[in-house]
Amino acid sequence: MARVFNFSAGPAALPEPVLQRAAEEMLDWRGCGMSVMEMSHRGKQFVEIAGRAEQTLRELLQVPDNYRVLFLQGGASGMFAAAPMNLLRGASRADYVNTGAWSKKAIAEARKYCEVNVAAASRDGELRIPPQADWQLSGDAAYLHYTPNETISGVEFHWVPEADAPLVVDMSSTILSRPVNVADYGMIYAGAQKNIGPAGITVVIVRDDLIGDVLPGTPAVWDFKAQAEADSMLNTPPTYAWYVAGLVFEWIRDNGGLQAMGERNRRKAETLYQAIDGSDFYRNPVDPACRSWMNVPFILADSGLDKTFLAEAAEQGLQTLSGHRSVGGMRASIYNAMPQEGVDALVAFMQEFERRHG
Ligand SMILES: *Cc1c(COP(=O)(O)O)cnc(C)c1O
Repeated sequence: MARVFNFSAGPAALPEPVLQRAAEEMLDWRGCGMSVMEMSHRGKQFVEIAGRAEQTLRELLQVPDNYRVLFLQGGASGMFAAAPMNLLRGASRADYVNTGAWSKKAIAEARKYCEVNVAAASRDGELRIPPQADWQLSGDAAYLHYTPNETISGVEFHWVPEADAPLVVDMSSTILSRPVNVADYGMIYAGAQKNIGPAGITVVIVRDDLIGDVLPGTPAVWDFKAQAEADSMLNTPPTYAWYVAGLVFEWIRDNGGLQAMGERNRRKAETLYQAIDGSDFYRNPVDPACRSWMNVPFILADSGLDKTFLAEAAEQGLQTLSGHRSVGGMRASIYNAMPQEGVDALVAFMQEFERRHG
């Protein structure tokens, strides 16, 4: 069996040692005679698995004690609604920054629950982040929401905005890729399927003074306070996804933690951007000040070659490189689980492809 280098944006590649360990433990989790999938979520074994996953995540991110860590369902898209439901706290307005497709979806969802002030927006097709000096924050916003990494266009904040209101961030495609200061944020949320684990589980890290005053009509499973008090087990959680996420957290810890992840990810991104910038055959359209370390879109000078590029890459084990259906071109997603060798192999292929077709 040969594993490919999978550049998928999500669900994305998982670290091979994690998959191996999950395979070893599949039929019989540590002598208990059953798979994690078959255990009661209230039993001693799963409660231990869940608690350890949370503890490891807290250590990796150095989550302060006044933050609650929740493992929920509904994906990041569910949190587009759950964020206003939980964090408006009687206010009627929230500030949002629009830097791309995921910001837009978060804004559309929030509009169902409150008045959204779009404090700043990149113009359509413009792949840059408006400088904070140009933002129009409202004085009475319950929070300021933004998307640190736009997964589709590869536009990433390399700075943290300043605001009086708590920052609420959709970190789906950048969480755990490097150290962050959790205390800078009121709420961090992320769907798991990029950098955390299998699809189906959603991590929320929220400051505890912000929760407990939900919008009337909020479903109990998305009431952060109720879920915090129930250790995220108000109902049956996605147990297997939670377990695999725990294995991923341990893999990160055993490979040097977030500092080491950040160094590896910076180097991978530099390798790829240098190869793109060093050629007239390939181009990355994003403002260099906000290029993503995780999702690297690029286009060929001759888009007529796109199909050939993708087919030949796939033959060499470099897979899932097509850009999002809304933008076309190519996109290489290079999350934690993508080794430097995968990026090196992609760059070697790109150079060889250019020699033959350039
Ligand atoms: C993938 C992604 C989403 C959507 O996540 P779901 O879990 O499918 O709802 C939202 N925001 C960002 C930044 C993403 O990368």
